Amino acid sequence: MSVKPVLAALAGLALATPAASQPLLPRPGADRNIAAACAGRDGWADPAPPARVFGNTYYVGTCGITALLVETPAGLVLLDGGVPEAAELVLANVRKLGFSPRLIRWILVSHEHYDHAGALAEIQRQTGARIVAGPNQATMLRTGQPDPADPQAPLLVKEPMLPVKVDRIQPHASRLMVGVTGFTAWATPTHSPGSTSWTWRECEGAVCRTIAYADSASTISVDGYRFSDNPQRVAAARQGLSVIAGLPCDIMVTPHPAASDLFPRLSGVKPLVQFGACRSYAAAATERFEARLAQEAAEAKKSRTK
Ligand SMILES: [Zn+2]
Repeated sequence: MSVKPVLAALAGLALATPAASQPLLPRPGADRNIAAACAGRDGWADPAPPARVFGNTYYVGTCGITALLVETPAGLVLLDGGVPEAAELVLANVRKLGFSPRLIRWILVSHEHYDHAGALAEIQRQTGARIVAGPNQATMLRTGQPDPADPQAPLLVKEPMLPVKVDRIQPHASRLMVGVTGFTAWATPTHSPGSTSWTWRECEGAVCRTIAYADSASTISVDGYRFSDNPQRVAAARQGLSVIAGLPCDIMVTPHPAASDLFPRLSGVKPLVQFGACRSYAAAATERFEARLAQEAAEAKKSRTK
């Protein structure tokens, strides 16, 4: 029997049974304490064990960069792949969970920088997965080059990504349905012009939660860049922060795991579910951004009065 009828049968089964009552299959290798395994190591290519996030969502990234795997009856969905050197580590984690990487149907992306999307060309080559670009990142993924409006562009051109084939562009606030799981794309252009956050629902028994893969919210730039000279970028960054603040968000995960204190939360040291997490995350980033703008204004004033 080929894989297709099995998947079709599984998809039919999932439609007949509400997601909340689906038994969870224990996955080998998802029970290791990732906080302990990565203690003292946060390198982008430092290997980490896989770990369960919630329901059928797993962490498959490295100690320094997040990649998530979501199991659905219609196949696997991967969110991000990390740096180029992480491609094999992410695929090894998928295998450690008992899945064939060939079952990855879709790859979703947080933002178009090499530390999150650099591995995608290799992962796409090995799996045949289709890449879904967020609302504003398709050009950068297809060319491997940064958007010229990216405050880090002069640095990023030195770290180009291998171009990937983009199969689909997901409009803002629309859902990619994979079986019964819907992945909503949110344009959150704070960290980069193509920054995208993704939300989806997971259940464990009767308990259902929304996972928010909230994109990086830092407004960093190359030296000498002034946000004040780029009012459109300032407006986009603020717009993104307001969308992040309003995301449906029971469990927040970020592309840099430390930004959401992820490992202690996956290891049971801190609460996994934090209501209002995206709001607080956006509020802290807004405060840092406004401080940067105030500093730029103060420096401009100083140089005028010199
Ligand atoms: Zn990053």
